[in-house]
Amino acid sequence: MRIDLITLFPQMCDAVLNESIIGRAQKKGALEIVTHQLRDFAFDKHKRVDDTPYGGGPGMLMKAEPIALCYEDICKETGVKPYFVYMSPQGKTLTQKRLVELSEKENICVLCGHYEGVDQRLIDEFIDEEISIGDYVLTGGELPALVFIDSLSRMTSGVLSEDLCFTEESHFNGLLEYPQYTKPQEWRGKTVPPVLMSGHHANVDKWRYEHSLINTLEKRPDMLENKELSRPDRDFLLNYKNKTE
Ligand code: SAM
Repeated sequence: MRIDLITLFPQMCDAVLNESIIGRAQKKGALEIVTHQLRDFAFDKHKRVDDTPYGGGPGMLMKAEPIALCYEDICKETGVKPYFVYMSPQGKTLTQKRLVELSEKENICVLCGHYEGVDQRLIDEFIDEEISIGDYVLTGGELPALVFIDSLSRMTSGVLSEDLCFTEESHFNGLLEYPQYTKPQEWRGKTVPPVLMSGHHANVDKWRYEHSLINTLEKRPDMLENKELSRPDRDFLLNYKNKTE
């Protein structure tokens, strides 16, 4: 997958994207992320990317033309029209399900807004999807874009060492993950559940699945309302509730 990122702060984004798992994935060629300085596409003499909103009101708006020119330049360079995402508090909230769908795309371009946002005509003409990271407002789209790119990248083949790393994680199958433990076996008087040290894979899987159900019930019962549970799973949770109430 290639991700192009349009931003006024490429250095801020590169600092994050060139580190750790995503940085290593880029070095080994599993993923390509290219950041673009939007100001390079402002061709007036002051290199302005923003202006005052028509109708008045506070703040500035990002102008349509530099963004359009930047995106068209990316299209020319890649030879395709990347799926164009605008990070916006007005978009649908990002979910693991949507990330799975978007991870199928070969080329994605992400636009970071700033100030009061972006001229609506640019959104209408160019943007395929607006994505929000939650019902709150940040000062700019860089942090949301980094959240989006990080969570999308880790589902791209070759980024994590094993696909299991994400298929077993919270939200992938509509449940939260089970509790996990590492060495030492005993820490400050607390031990690890014995089944995890038994070496019996079927029992470990069963324990993990059941604790995934319990974790979801305890922390995010709303997730279970949208999930079709099997009869044994429903019975298991009912039993657990009766025992703990
Ligand atoms: N005036 C806009 C509104 O009320 O919808 C908010 C603009 S916000 C201050 C500036 C930029 O930050 C937005 O253009 C967007 O790119 C980004 N942003 C802020 N909150 C966001 C969120 N929850 N999810 C995604 N992007 C967000």
